Amino acid sequence: MSKKLTSRAEDYSKWYNELVVKADLAENSAVRGCMVIKPYGYAIWEKMQAELDRMFKETGHQNAYFPLFVPKSLFEAEEKNAEGFAKECAVVTHYRLQNDPDKPGKLRVDPEAKLEEELVVRPTSEAIIWNTYRNWIQSYRDLPILVNQWANVVRWEMRTRLFLRTAEFLWQEGHTAHATKQEAIDETKQMNNVYANFVENFMAIPVIQGVKTESERFAGADETYCIEALMQDGKALQAGTSHFLGQNFAKAFDVKYANKEGKQDYVWATSWGVSTRLMGALIMTHSDDNGLVLPPNLAPYQVVIVPIYKNEEQFEAISKVAEDIISDLRERNISVKFDKRDTLRPGAKFAQHELQGVPLRIAVGPKDLEDGTVEVARRDTLTKQTVILDRINVVIEDLLEEIQKSLFDKALAYRNEHITKVDTFDEFKDVLENKGGFIAAHWDGTAETEEKIKEITKATIRCVPLGSAEESGSCVYSGAPSKGRVLFAKAY
Ligand code: AMP
Repeated sequence: MSKKLTSRAEDYSKWYNELVVKADLAENSAVRGCMVIKPYGYAIWEKMQAELDRMFKETGHQNAYFPLFVPKSLFEAEEKNAEGFAKECAVVTHYRLQNDPDKPGKLRVDPEAKLEEELVVRPTSEAIIWNTYRNWIQSYRDLPILVNQWANVVRWEMRTRLFLRTAEFLWQEGHTAHATKQEAIDETKQMNNVYANFVENFMAIPVIQGVKTESERFAGADETYCIEALMQDGKALQAGTSHFLGQNFAKAFDVKYANKEGKQDYVWATSWGVSTRLMGALIMTHSDDNGLVLPPNLAPYQVVIVPIYKNEEQFEAISKVAEDIISDLRERNISVKFDKRDTLRPGAKFAQHELQGVPLRIAVGPKDLEDGTVEVARRDTLTKQTVILDRINVVIEDLLEEIQKSLFDKALAYRNEHITKVDTFDEFKDVLENKGGFIAAHWDGTAETEEKIKEITKATIRCVPLGSAEESGSCVYSGAPSKGRVLFAKAY
């Protein structure tokens, strides 16, 4: 087993990077900023996908697929969107390589094979999708369109971190078209709610729902809803976004529909997405200095059984017991792995499963066989208990439920302890430096003040929380009047 992880207290960032690699979730690749997601990490992503996909379908959406490339002329059509993403675009200019006449054994771009029109590798798909929707929509009968796409996108990020910010990432992007403004706004809110439910109930990560300020808004949106989570180092992470796009894309791509009276009007739009960044949120919220801690809902396997034996005969007897436990647990839809590798000692297996965050470990040894018991260890609390074999199913089922809940409760307590109300800028800076977390402060509503605060403290406005009470006060920076508090934080 490789040596221990750097502790969170020592260097949080290093702890994260080491953990992602050592727990076998992902690694850097030969392409700058792009990662390889390894099978154990991908298994967790697949669980997220499966549940989200179920929730999207339950709310009436269907999956479809659109091209990876966006012709530049389409990309530029919605100007704000194009301007917002222009700096991060990868662009295809040629379609062929040839042998380099000057360098034997090397290839070069064939100068004859220049594309007539450059292709942007999608950083997001509104342009190509709205160009397509024009052909799908004629009348109100064609609406709404409720489509989601599972895909990869490319944003040429300069400073990348595994999962949290990569140049290519996996995500889903919903793109819906509606006859009325209200319906589109309802959809935007509904999908932000779906995200909040998923992240809280499935990933055990508490989130704050809110809207972004104009400067943090998605390029091309009229309003951006978001869910914001807090990581264990006191930094915030945007876990998902849902955009009300108004008629901006319909106007840019001339997408009109005839209403019941036969009058032409532009279509209303939304888009919403979560990405593999959620993996980063999962890791940073629950894990500890011993490694990953996974909520049972997302663990590739929820239980691992490790046999402890000295000879073949003992192994046979333990295997019998293990097989019984496995079939019982599987009947209850609990996923189990029997770790019968004979290339590793039990201690090394324990360490690996701990590092990889398997929620429960069952150890069975010769003494247990005599007593009719097994030893059950919880990953989240690192506690052990002896369980009578007859009761193992019920105990495991209850424990998994309890772990899921207690991970959420623990994260919620931490999050709530880290929302601090401040009324002066000195206090603001002090809390940011020494405590971290969200700062609830009055803001005068101007982009200038927002920018100034960011420049001085690196904190951004994460959101204006939904449903927050009106409270008159004065801006923590400018002293100008304010109608309510917004949440600031340093963020990933
Ligand atoms: P956006 O389209 O900018 O609203 O982003 C959609 C989702 O992707 C949000 O949940 C973002 O947090 C996430 N996201 C944005 N950029 C990246 C990136 N470089 N790597 C991973 N996730 C990202």
